[in-house]
Amino acid sequence: MKILVINAGSSSLKYQLIDMTDESVIAKGLCERIAIDGSKLTHKAHGKSYEFNNPMPNHTVAIKMVLDALVDKECGVVADMSEIAAVGHRVVHGAEDYNCSVLIDEKVLASCEANSELAPLHNPANIMGVRACMAVMPNTPMVAVFDTAFHATMPESAYLYGIPYDDYKNYRIRKYGFHGTSHMFVSQEAAKFLGKDIKDTKIVTCHLGNGSSISAVDGGRSVDTSMGFTPLDGLPMGTRSGSIDGAILEYWMAKTGKSINEALVNLNKKSGMLGLSGTSSDFRDLVEGNGLDVARNKMAVDLFSYHVKRYVGAYTAVMNGLDAIVFTAGVGENTPYVRKQAVGNLEYLGVKLDDNRNENCPRGQAYEISASDSKVKVIVIPTNEELVIARETLAVAKL
Ligand code: AMP
Repeated sequence: MKILVINAGSSSLKYQLIDMTDESVIAKGLCERIAIDGSKLTHKAHGKSYEFNNPMPNHTVAIKMVLDALVDKECGVVADMSEIAAVGHRVVHGAEDYNCSVLIDEKVLASCEANSELAPLHNPANIMGVRACMAVMPNTPMVAVFDTAFHATMPESAYLYGIPYDDYKNYRIRKYGFHGTSHMFVSQEAAKFLGKDIKDTKIVTCHLGNGSSISAVDGGRSVDTSMGFTPLDGLPMGTRSGSIDGAILEYWMAKTGKSINEALVNLNKKSGMLGLSGTSSDFRDLVEGNGLDVARNKMAVDLFSYHVKRYVGAYTAVMNGLDAIVFTAGVGENTPYVRKQAVGNLEYLGVKLDDNRNENCPRGQAYEISASDSKVKVIVIPTNEELVIARETLAVAKL
């Protein structure tokens, strides 16, 4: 049983073909510069990488190229497209319409389109990916897996902002949260690692990458998360500011004479680690001391780690307890310095990091970095959002 997982962006499309008998990835790849000159498909299979440079004027052509690559005599991995039992699509925003993954039909697509106003950078591209697949594989079931769905269990006091209630009712302004597939996956893996039923666990999951978010997962349910109405909220990130006082916007616009669009570009693309360091948004550069201003690099990373710690403390209070802290994604899995700054002195919460284990944490596997007598376990767990999408697709398509 093979499931194709699609993550479509506005000019890119990532895919993985997963064999669900053993959950192995049998091929994966990336279409870049869709509808832009210089389109490229990079396809990886049989331990090799293949490149195709044909024009991709739209997502449908891109999907056709992906399917051609998958059945190709040399680089292909299936004899026939009919071997692909279903397609799972990452859809960023499900709003309040979806608290779980669903089989896609025209009604679902229409509601995703209506939710594009909440995620204008993501949903339209995700929908293009779905429509392209439907055009090329009309008889294959398609499933939507939403980034927001896992957070649908948040209580009102976590998801409402302190703004007029009518703004929530009339305009749907509330916290939705993102990275849901990742928080779900690593919290489930953590429960397995702890040897506990997830219903009996209180876990803070730290998805720290270029985009970062932290969730409080109580009994397997998300009860709070740091991203909000959009992924701009919460922690400072690679290039995003994270939460700021809303009044700064008007003040900054008056001072600089710039527009609201420029203000949003400033907050989304020029802030966070990039804006603070003036060097890079990449934690490798900042931690390894590359770039011009080493002190500013350190200030940026220390500020990031400080905010991680704030959320760990806050979410422990929210859940009235803590069994495990999980670090995942590019920074969480690879940056011992951030992990130590964030949870290295939380002894009063029962967290005792083992510096040696933290420094020498092997890549690509779940690994405990807390001391053996630490009450709270600190675990590094590689995330796997594609696998979650494939599992959800298998379950929803009832294959
Ligand atoms: P993601 O969004 O999960 O792909 O994570 C991207 C971030 O992870 C970037 O800031 C990278 O610098 C960081 N990252 C990836 N690999 C490493 C590494 N080996 N050491 C430190 N940071 C890393």
